[in-house]
Amino acid sequence: MSPHILALDVAGAPHRWINVREAAQYYATDMIAWATGTNEFLLRGGTQRSTGIQSLIRANSIIAIKGKDFIVRNFDQVAALTKEMLLARDRYVCAYCAQRFRFDQLDMEHIVPRSKGGENSWMNLVAACKACNNRKADRTPEAAGMKLHYVPYVPNRYEAFILSNRKILADQMEFLLQGVPRNSRMRSIA
Ligand SMILES: [Zn+2]
Repeated sequence: MSPHILALDVAGAPHRWINVREAAQYYATDMIAWATGTNEFLLRGGTQRSTGIQSLIRANSIIAIKGKDFIVRNFDQVAALTKEMLLARDRYVCAYCAQRFRFDQLDMEHIVPRSKGGENSWMNLVAACKACNNRKADRTPEAAGMKLHYVPYVPNRYEAFILSNRKILADQMEFLLQGVPRNSRMRSIA
């Protein structure tokens, strides 16, 4: 899988990750407002009928796209939660035994069990290994006598962009970290 390009709105708010093919379309239709990354991708465009030469487009790794359809209006909206993002937030460390595991050895664990009204939310889910998850079962941490080794939190927009892409380029990471709070655990992965 080739790296993705970070698409921003004209004000610089992260809009979404796009693939190289999508970026080529924005370049071809003159939709790029500005670019700021240090990495470049060479994209193949169409072939000119008269010359038979294929055009090449240079795309930046971070691009701002014009147009009102591209303005980020829901900046503070809580990011949709996926298992990939949650386990990345928790650094693949079980919240109860504090050991590090592989992706497939961890579950999303409800701190307050669903049977007791616990939600599927960033604040009620943590990474847990199978053994701890089984031991805790359908109980709260207090009832199970199991202490949380870290506290859950809701990632902001910039953190969510970091969590949702496992192949971030260094310049993209640097850009996104500017929007990550100083005290975030995220800062120790970069
Ligand atoms: Zn564990």
